[in-house]
Amino acid sequence: MHNPPAQVICHILDTGHCLAHERMMLRGGSSRQIECHALVALIQHPEHGWGLWDTGYAPRMLTETARWPFWLYRRATPLRLRPELALVEQLPRWGLAAADISWIVLSHLHADHVAGLRDFPQARLILTAAAYADVRGRHGWRALSRAFIPNLLPDDFERRATLIDEFPDPPLGPLGPTYDVFGDGALQLVALPGHARGQVGMLVQTAERTILLAADGAWLTRAIREQRPPNPLTYLFTDDRHAVRETLRRLHDFARQRPEVALIPTHCPEAYAREVLA
Ligand SMILES: [Zn+2]
Ligand SMILES: [Zn+2]
Repeated sequence: MHNPPAQVICHILDTGHCLAHERMMLRGGSSRQIECHALVALIQHPEHGWGLWDTGYAPRMLTETARWPFWLYRRATPLRLRPELALVEQLPRWGLAAADISWIVLSHLHADHVAGLRDFPQARLILTAAAYADVRGRHGWRALSRAFIPNLLPDDFERRATLIDEFPDPPLGPLGPTYDVFGDGALQLVALPGHARGQVGMLVQTAERTILLAADGAWLTRAIREQRPPNPLTYLFTDDRHAVRETLRRLHDFARQRPEVALIPTHCPEAYAREVLA
């Protein structure tokens, strides 16, 4: 690509948080509890209009986890949600309504990333074929073991989904080959394997800066900086523990090569403080 990349406008929003012990998120971490926010991005593309990176928490997460076995999900990650933080409730701040959202990129299909999805019935959905194949048709325990809550997916999910099965575009340094979402360099997906099958991150080009939305490739920016993987206990719910470490190493190398890029792991309190509170 020889043309300069197109630029988007990108707002980072909080959709609520759960509580987790630092030592689970970071090997050798302390026993203090941290607030793990579920950050999402509201993006305006010059040609393709308004879209989202993930959809975060929404109040239906509480009703969907009220019953066994999904109740266990809530036990594991105590939720602190406020209805007004649901993404669809925040759109009026930009003069937008749900119908204005025309595309959504999903990093992966864990419940904390797709709980808001049903609020956007018109959006085209972009995700990897691998992420969908891993959860498709799973119910009950078989779904819970993937941190997947089937009812959170809209009934017409398949009709609206664009499933990506390869990354044909030029590599992004140590993060490897990319998938250029709109073919103009503004939004580039990279594979972040390990945490969940088919997970992607997204490099976002705005006029002011470049952002790497790192999904759950690492839970904390500190984990990337210090290259510290999560507690081995979390590997019970992890797709591929070796790939988790390899992805963390690649994120670490990328952050060193490109220190100007703002890293935004979905649940990182540091990113939340900088992007949402500041
Ligand atoms: Zn996840
Ligand atoms: Zn997550």
